[in-house]
Amino acid sequence: TELNVWHNVDDYFMTKLLPENEHLNSALQANKAAGIPEIDVSPTQGKLLYLLAKMKSAVNILEIGTLGGYSSICLAQALPQAGKVVTLEINEDYAKIAKQNIENAGYEQMIEVIVGNALDTLPNLKKAGLLFDFIFIDADKPNNPAYLEWALKLAQAGAVIIADNVVRNGAVTDENSEDERVRGVQEFVDLLKADPRIEATAIQTVGVKGYDGFVLAIVN
Ligand code: SAM
Repeated sequence: TELNVWHNVDDYFMTKLLPENEHLNSALQANKAAGIPEIDVSPTQGKLLYLLAKMKSAVNILEIGTLGGYSSICLAQALPQAGKVVTLEINEDYAKIAKQNIENAGYEQMIEVIVGNALDTLPNLKKAGLLFDFIFIDADKPNNPAYLEWALKLAQAGAVIIADNVVRNGAVTDENSEDERVRGVQEFVDLLKADPRIEATAIQTVGVKGYDGFVLAIVN
C-alpha cells in the first residue's frame, strides 16, 4: 500500500506539474518498443534534473549512462541555445536508440552520444580539454567512485554533481552489503565526505520507480 501511495502521489504531481512532453513520451515509447530496460529516471525525476540544470544555468552537461536518452533529453531541454550535453553509453544498441530518440526530438546538435566504456571515454574528454558545469552520474554503480574522480577532473569551479540510485531501498546503510552496486555507492559517499572541495547531501525519493535517491553535490 505504501507503494500505491507513492505511485499515486507521483501520478498526481506528474499530472499537475508536468506538461505533456511529446519528445519524452516518444522516447519512452521507442525504448519500450526496442525492449530497453525501464531503468530511466521517472518523469518527475527527469523534471527535477531539468530544474536543477536550469537553476544552475548549466551550459555544458556531462551524463554518464545514456540508456535510451530520456534523461539526456530532459537535461538538454534545460539548456540555452549554445548549450551541450555529452552523454556516455557502453551499450551500442541502447546508444543507437538514444541517438534516434535525440534526433526525433530535434536535439542532435545539442546532445552528443559517445559509445564505449565510460572509463575509456572519460579520459578523452579530459584530453580534449572539455570542462562541465553539471555532471549526472547514472551508469554502473560499482564504478561510481571512479566516475566521481573523473567528474572532479572534468568539473568547472562550482560544478554540480548529481548521482542516481544512492539509496537502493535502504541498502546503502548496510555496512556488510556484498552487493557491489551498494559498495560502489558507499565508497562514492565516503569520497564525497573526504574531499574538502565538495559540499553534498542526499535526497531520498519515492514514486513510480520505488524507493531510491539522489546525491546532490557542488564542487567548490
Ligand atoms: N540516465 C538514463 C536515463 O535516466 O534515461 C538511465 C541510465 S541506466 C540507469 C544506466 C546506463 O549505463 C545503461 O544504459 C548502461 O548500459 C550504461 N552503462 C553501464 N556501464 C557503463 C559503462 N561502463 N560505461 C558507460 N555506460 C555504462
